[in-house]
Amino acid sequence: MNRDGSAAGRRVVAAALVALLLGAGCTPTSESPGRGGNAYGNLPRVTPRPRPTTPAQPKTIEPDQIDLGRSVAGRPLKAQIYGTGEQTILMLATIHGNEQAGTPLLRKLGDYLREHPQIVADKRVILIPVANPDGMASNTRGNLRGIDLNRNFPAWNYSPSRGHGSQPLSEPESRALSQVIAKYEPDRIISLHQPLTCIDYDGPGEALARAMAAATNLPLKKLGSLAGSLGSYAGLTKRIPIVTVEFPRGADDLTPDGLWSRYGRMLLVAVCHPDPVPTLTEQSRRPSPMVSIEPVARPRANRRQTD
Ligand SMILES: [Zn+2]
Repeated sequence: MNRDGSAAGRRVVAAALVALLLGAGCTPTSESPGRGGNAYGNLPRVTPRPRPTTPAQPKTIEPDQIDLGRSVAGRPLKAQIYGTGEQTILMLATIHGNEQAGTPLLRKLGDYLREHPQIVADKRVILIPVANPDGMASNTRGNLRGIDLNRNFPAWNYSPSRGHGSQPLSEPESRALSQVIAKYEPDRIISLHQPLTCIDYDGPGEALARAMAAATNLPLKKLGSLAGSLGSYAGLTKRIPIVTVEFPRGADDLTPDGLWSRYGRMLLVAVCHPDPVPTLTEQSRRPSPMVSIEPVARPRANRRQTD
């Protein structure tokens, strides 16, 4: 009994030892490379390369501040440039100093572009919120010398006069604008005025003007080519699409948010044309003031058209 019992016990111990050795993983497996090597011998470890990733979009951008010179009274003429893309859009406001609604609107647009750099990913948007700072300060149409800057451009129909200047570009403010156009060669120009309550265009600007009109409640209307105007110069002499937006008379009484609510989307259409304005995550997350467009007064039929 003892001999049989001892033999059985030895068999159990031997089986247990075999099981222990196998279970301990003595055979190298791919999951357990030996020290100093790997499953394929002693080849050096290969550190996996990081996958190429798309550079993260910045959350905000800061514009380049451009000095365009000085007004007659010495006020700085300034532009802000958002984005470094090839397609260039120039927007200006208050070239007539008593038509000021466009100025806070362009500043609101600047705030929006700063927070939504996706919009200008392939664009360069140049904003000149105050083209006639002396006129704005005195709430007069012309500059300090009383010259209507929007009659002072070297278009074929320029006519010298006391109110239009002795020669084209006689004024530092109009010279600054013409230099911006020469240097940056904008693909389109938007000029913001009052009070004729319509959207006008010169040169090859009809498609852009229609797209902008569709984004707001301002009707498309041809005002004609005015002597020495920016529209005549840029649109017809230089063949740059140019849209003149005429806000209603009381638009400059609106708050910046009120202006943006009514006209912000139209300006974004001008930036993005011919592409649609992208739907942005931020827009869908927080209620956008741009979706509500309130009716505004229509112009009186007999109003004199001067812009
Ligand atoms: Zn005007």
